[in-house]
Amino acid sequence: MQTERWVSQHGYCLACDSDVLRPTPPNTPARDFECPVCAHPYELKASSKAFGSRIVDGAYGSMMARIHENTTATFLLMHYSEVWQPVTLMSVHRSLVLPEMIEQRKPLALTARRAGWIGCNILLNQVPPEGRIALIRQSAPVRKKFAREQFQKVERLASTSVQSRGWTAALLTRLHRFGSAQFTLAQVYAFEGEMSSLFPDNQHVREKLRQQLQVLRKAGFLRFLSRGHYELVNKHSV
Ligand SMILES: [Zn+2]
Repeated sequence: MQTERWVSQHGYCLACDSDVLRPTPPNTPARDFECPVCAHPYELKASSKAFGSRIVDGAYGSMMARIHENTTATFLLMHYSEVWQPVTLMSVHRSLVLPEMIEQRKPLALTARRAGWIGCNILLNQVPPEGRIALIRQSAPVRKKFAREQFQKVERLASTSVQSRGWTAALLTRLHRFGSAQFTLAQVYAFEGEMSSLFPDNQHVREKLRQQLQVLRKAGFLRFLSRGHYELVNKHSV
């Protein structure tokens, strides 16, 4: 594939300073490239159309298993032109691809070759903007140093549990809904209902929300301005 050749020639690792990505052996499931230095895995999805809010992926069961084992690859979403040049290249950091963002598809019909097989969609709009890092925008490359800095901020969340990252991602996505980068604790508490339906096992939602604000501050996504007042570092609208 032309798009795979492009990544072999021009791709680089976001997790470290390696300027090379190595293709994995043919038929390696769910990873197309690997960094020869830090072994960070990448899965390329290329399309001649711009990506929407749902990305079709492989088997639902194996995707969920990979998330829980922390072996998911970082996605590289490439929208390419008629001459196979990337118009947009966006990475989706694997630490922010979480169970809440995976949609189970209907089993394949009995008449299909793989009858009963269940695929999945990744709900891209549930991934917070911090986890979607552009490498190329409108055919122009983003500075490599900048893309790596953005990516490595998210990497700071990698050591926390899948469940904790689920909270981080859900809160972060919601913080981008505010009209302004600044917000208050009262505005965060307004998500209590939504968060308890998303995570029904947790009985202490307000406490968890406060804890997540600390997590986001430590990762460098949030500033504490004064008691109960906060500011998002990179405000995007979603
Ligand atoms: Zn690397």
